Amino acid sequence: MSYCLEDFRGYIKSCVWKNAKTYEHFAPHEYVLSFPCEKLKAENKCSGDCVTCKAQRQAFENAVMFIREHGERAQFTKRIYTMLCVEDYQYWSYGDPIETTWVLNKAIINDPRCKVKTYWLDSD
Ligand SMILES: [Zn+2]
Repeated sequence: MSYCLEDFRGYIKSCVWKNAKTYEHFAPHEYVLSFPCEKLKAENKCSGDCVTCKAQRQAFENAVMFIREHGERAQFTKRIYTMLCVEDYQYWSYGDPIETTWVLNKAIINDPRCKVKTYWLDSD
């Protein structure tokens, strides 16, 4: 069984997205955070129920890898990200490799409130 778009849709629906307040008036977006259990333990934030920790981390990593495999390159400010568009949102992560990726973001595609244009590098 391989991970598919329906799995990705299920994951993004299950997430509790937080509003990125510092970017509210510049580049409005929402995000979720995920940390590997080992990191949570080192910071005394592991629930002790590592089955849950590990399953949550796996679901996050699967979603991030899906974006990296199926997304398009997009330039935003000076940086190039791989973004995946699903319905009205574009999804992207910071950090590479996957082991040090903690943040998954989403923003409305072509949001008129966004002060920075996204340049889609793979579109004709
Ligand atoms: Zn744990």
